[in-house]
Amino acid sequence: MPGSETLDCVARAEIVVDLDAVRDNVALLRRRVDRPLMAIVKADAYGHGLLPCAKACLAGGADMLGVAILDEALQLRAHGITAPILAWLAVPGERVAEAVRAGVEVSVNATWALQELVAAGRESGRIPRVHLKFDSGLSRGGATEADWPTLVQAALRAEADGAVQPVALWSHLAYADEPGHPTIDRQLHLFVAAVEFAERAGLQSMTKHLANSAATLTRPDTWLDMVRPGIACYGLDPLGGDPAAHGLRPAMTVRTEVALVKRVPPGSGVSYGHSYVTDRETGLALVPIGYAEGIPRNATNVGPVWLGGARRTISGRVCMDQFVVDIGDDPVRAGDEVLVWGPGTQGEPTAQDWADAVDTIHYELVTRIGGRLTRRYVGDGR
Ligand SMILES: *Cc1c(COP(=O)(O)O)cnc(C)c1O
Repeated sequence: MPGSETLDCVARAEIVVDLDAVRDNVALLRRRVDRPLMAIVKADAYGHGLLPCAKACLAGGADMLGVAILDEALQLRAHGITAPILAWLAVPGERVAEAVRAGVEVSVNATWALQELVAAGRESGRIPRVHLKFDSGLSRGGATEADWPTLVQAALRAEADGAVQPVALWSHLAYADEPGHPTIDRQLHLFVAAVEFAERAGLQSMTKHLANSAATLTRPDTWLDMVRPGIACYGLDPLGGDPAAHGLRPAMTVRTEVALVKRVPPGSGVSYGHSYVTDRETGLALVPIGYAEGIPRNATNVGPVWLGGARRTISGRVCMDQFVVDIGDDPVRAGDEVLVWGPGTQGEPTAQDWADAVDTIHYELVTRIGGRLTRRYVGDGR
């Protein structure tokens, strides 16, 4: 397991991932939906660590894993993960044959991709399992309503030739984080119509899947044959609320230690550009992580941290390697712990608090955090 070498040692600056939280979140979602669940572990499991999180998801009862790119699927296979895996984003000429040989299920959006998959199947001596993606209104991946019949017919011909095995029809929602949004009904309706078309054409007993985390939490009518939660597996609420309200537990904590404390006089400009100036004699604490670690530079003067038993705000510019916090007269010392974000149980900010402060979503924050931070796993996720 990557990172296990740091299992017991607290590092100077690190991401701590609670694998039991990942397992328990997946188990809770799986119980609630009571049907197959594809746990999404793309982008290094949203910054939580691909392989340990994949194992924790499977321990929690995930029936399948989902990743964006072929390379992520191949990494899972290379590390002995035998569960079904779907990968849905390839460019022309990618190593599809390798993925097919590794038993990875592949999504196609267009007939050229289907032809590549057919060729990959011949090359690898295995019949590729394919998910046909329908664009029901996100206008991202998937075949449009206009292109769907052609894709379905091509898949049927390839199936008749024994060149592919269509196993699923799927789509993705644009507005699931607003549960009452009219586009959800419209997308569901269009997807059901696309499924009916495919069934009439001859694609029978396909697995139909549509729901991401937000839909898994709020829209049972979108669950169909399988759900595809990502962020909820890591304990964050896609709707921006308190994950505990859904029974979820955030898995990631970002922590470091104060590198230096000093007293400065009133009128001291702090960090590049002096965008923070002390209004009294005060103490400053130097925190040794910065935008190279994925702390957003626009957290300047707004990013929250837990330091010396209190919530505080970053003072001045976030730099590449460090930032500064005005600690007033509090007895903070070098070596004291700094919690950047975590589950919030010790008073520390959550990734949602950070998202609110820097005007983004927690998805982006947890996925981008890294750089020179080490990752340490707690719990065994088994
Ligand atoms: C990322 C992704 C998901 C998971 O989304 P969450 O909002 O993290 O649950 C599901 N399906 C597709 C196609 C995705 O790209």
